[in-house]
Amino acid sequence: MRIFLKIIFISFIGTFFPLHQTNPSPPVLITDIRFWSAPDHTRVVLDLSEPIQYESLPQEKPLQVHLILKKATLRTPKRELEINDPFLIRLSLTEIEKGEVRLILHQKRPLHVNIFPLKPYLDKPHRLVIDLVDLVQEKKEQEDRQKQKEATPKGTKIVVIDPGHGGEDPGAIGPKKTMEKEIVLKVGEKILHLLKKEKGIQGFLTRKGDYFIPLEERIKIARDYGADLLISLHTDGSFNPKARGSSVYCLSLSGATDEAAKILADKENMSNILGGAVLKPTSMVKDPNLNQILLDLMQNNSMKESFRFAEILLENIKNINGLKYPTYRQANFIVLKAPDIPSVLVEMAFISNREDEYLLNQSDFQEKMAKTIVLSIKKYFRP
Ligand SMILES: [Zn+2]
Repeated sequence: MRIFLKIIFISFIGTFFPLHQTNPSPPVLITDIRFWSAPDHTRVVLDLSEPIQYESLPQEKPLQVHLILKKATLRTPKRELEINDPFLIRLSLTEIEKGEVRLILHQKRPLHVNIFPLKPYLDKPHRLVIDLVDLVQEKKEQEDRQKQKEATPKGTKIVVIDPGHGGEDPGAIGPKKTMEKEIVLKVGEKILHLLKKEKGIQGFLTRKGDYFIPLEERIKIARDYGADLLISLHTDGSFNPKARGSSVYCLSLSGATDEAAKILADKENMSNILGGAVLKPTSMVKDPNLNQILLDLMQNNSMKESFRFAEILLENIKNINGLKYPTYRQANFIVLKAPDIPSVLVEMAFISNREDEYLLNQSDFQEKMAKTIVLSIKKYFRP
């Protein structure tokens, strides 16, 4: 009788709590892991089948971060990655008991850890981003830029070249898988090399490798260097594989000149979402010390100067490539929003077009584009 009652009791519990007993939620699949090394931080990114719960456990001896990823299974063959940049030695992923995965980040020095999720976007799945930031180096980078500015001889014009995208954000991708972020960095480096030979003009890059910088931060970097001109380098992408040609864009404060320019600005501004921007309080586009009237005056002047440079640039680019439009276009590009720095964005060619993609990959074409931009910079500063 007692056994009979027990059986009834157990089946009673079973009918009330069947889901907990028999149908646990499936584990989150970790499908990939990669890292990006920047001058002041390392970014580690995990691809996931869905959002994940985690616990972060910093350790001092040895200096490590242990990240326990809950209800997770590894679906990537990558278990150990040698990093060996200034901040991390390596990372290792291991499945541990209770359906958990442990990620160990072996540090070289004390680092500030910032962990945040990224939602799926386009072909990107759910992601977990782990930024390991060297706060001392971050400050030093900024101080070094300001020192460069102070050390620049009086009368020298400063140009900051901004290779778009980077890291998690590849930019547009060509039919042969050429990535915008790689081409723009190559052209940026060529421009810098050419500018070194120019007296009275000094060039700097916002991005020196394959890592992501938020759009607002790019303006701040340009301002640290004391930029007289900011040129953001890009390659266009279109669903129409026949679309070709170069184009030049300036900021608009009152809506885009046309729908295509608006769509392009929206696409370029998406960089912050794709790249995983963490906006710091210091990433202000406007300097809080400036008053509004002064700011408006500066903005007006910067825009006029941007238009003047854009015209010079188009005039020169048409000698090396077809133009998408005969004049510059305007839209609300975040990276062009510095009120105190004339800024233009160049779409050098269409990476989505087979012929343009071929050209963009040619060192010869990259060199020609760099020379054309340098020629335009020289003309702009010495009208
Ligand atoms: Zn772009």
